Amino acid sequence: MPGVIHWSMTEPASMNLEPKPMSAFLPPSHAQITDPETPMVDVLGGASRWTIPLHEHGFVALVDSMPRLVPMGQTADQAVVQAARVSYGAGTKKVNEDRGLIRYLLRHEHTTPFEMVEFKFHVSMPIFVARQWIRHRTANVNEYSGRYSVMPDRFYRVGLDAVRKQSPSNRQGGEEVFDGGNAKELKTAQEFVAYLDHVEGLYKKYEELIEQGVSRELARVGLPTSQFTQWYWKCDLHNILRFLKLRLDAHAQQEIRDYAQAMHDLIAPIVPVTMEAWRDYHLESLRLTRLEIEAVADISRGGPGELASDNSRERAEWDAKRQRLGL
Ligand SMILES: Cc1cc2nc3c(=O)[nH]c(=O)nc-3n(C[C@H](O)[C@H](O)[C@H](O)COP(=O)(O)OP(=O)(O)OC[C@H]3O[C@@H](n4cnc5c(N)ncnc54)[C@H](O)[C@@H]3O)c2cc1C
Repeated sequence: MPGVIHWSMTEPASMNLEPKPMSAFLPPSHAQITDPETPMVDVLGGASRWTIPLHEHGFVALVDSMPRLVPMGQTADQAVVQAARVSYGAGTKKVNEDRGLIRYLLRHEHTTPFEMVEFKFHVSMPIFVARQWIRHRTANVNEYSGRYSVMPDRFYRVGLDAVRKQSPSNRQGGEEVFDGGNAKELKTAQEFVAYLDHVEGLYKKYEELIEQGVSRELARVGLPTSQFTQWYWKCDLHNILRFLKLRLDAHAQQEIRDYAQAMHDLIAPIVPVTMEAWRDYHLESLRLTRLEIEAVADISRGGPGELASDNSRERAEWDAKRQRLGL
C-alpha cells in the first residue's frame, strides 16, 4: 500500500521541522492555494525508485511518475479521467463511472487523456537494445556519454543454453536454441559464446588506448554493441502503450521484450485500470483486414473461408488469426 502523505502547502511554515523540506516550495503570495479534498498518497509508496534487474548488468528502474501523488484510494488512472472530463464534460454523464470512461477512451482511440500521465525510467541496457529502443521518438532521452566518461566494463552475455538459432521462417529472429545434447550444435553454441568473450576482451585495449591519450570519443568506436549503456527515458502513457505493444510482441527481439515486460510490470500497479483496458482492446485484440472480414463472412455462409489474396505471407497471417478465432 503506497505511503500516505498529508499534503498541505500551507502547513510547513509553522511546523518548524528539521530539515524544513517545504520551505523552498512556498507558493507566491498572490497564488490561491487549494488543499486536496482527501490525503494524497505517493504512487511509488515513498520509494525513490522501483528497480527490476535484468540480464546480469541491466535494469529498468521507475524513478518518477506524473501524477506522483494521487487522492487516497485512487490510482494514477485518475489523471486520465480528470483530463477527459474537461473535454468530454456533459458527454461523460452517460459514462458516469471512471473505469467505464477509461475503457471507452481506449476503445475509441481517444488518446490525449493518456498523455496526461508520464513515467520516467532509468535504464541500463546493451547498445543493441538501445538502438531499437531509440526508434520510439516521442520519449525524452538523456544517455550516458562515452565522450565525457569512460564506458563501463559491462557487456551482454548469453549462456550456452540460450544461444538462439536463426529461424527459417522469420527473417528477423529465432526462438529455438542450440541443443546442448547434440555435439555439433553444442560446438556452435560454444563458438558463439567464445566470440562474445573475444569482443568483450577488446575492452582491455580500449582502456590501454585511453591510458595512452587517445580521446574517449574515438577509443569507444571499437567497442561492440554488447556493451552496456544507460539512459533516463521519460514518456507519456499513450506512447508507452504503443512502445509496449510493439516491443512485447513475439516479433520483437527477446532482449528488448524483456525490458518491455519489466516496464509493463512497473507501471501496471500504478495505472491498473488503463492497463486492463489496454490488454483487452489493444494488446490481446485482433485486427481484421477487409479481406479477412470477407473470409469470415464466407465461413458463416458455409464456404471455405479462403483469403482473396495470392500473397503467401498475408495468407499465413490469416491462417494464424483463423486459428486464434477457432474458425
Ligand atoms: C519487430 C520490429 C521490427 C523492426 N524492424 C526494423 C527494421 O528492420 N529497420 C528499421 O529501420 N526499423 C525497424 N523497426 C522500427 C519501426 O519501424 C519503428 O521505427 C519503431 O517501432 C517506432 O515506431 P513508431 O514510429 O510507431 O514509434 P514512435 O517514434 O514512438 O512514434 C509513435 C507515433 O507517433 C507518431 N510520430 C512520431 N514521430 C513522428 C513524426 N516525425 N512524424 C509523424 N508522426 C510521428 C506516429 O504516429 C508514430 O506511430 C522495427 C520495429 C519493430 C517493433
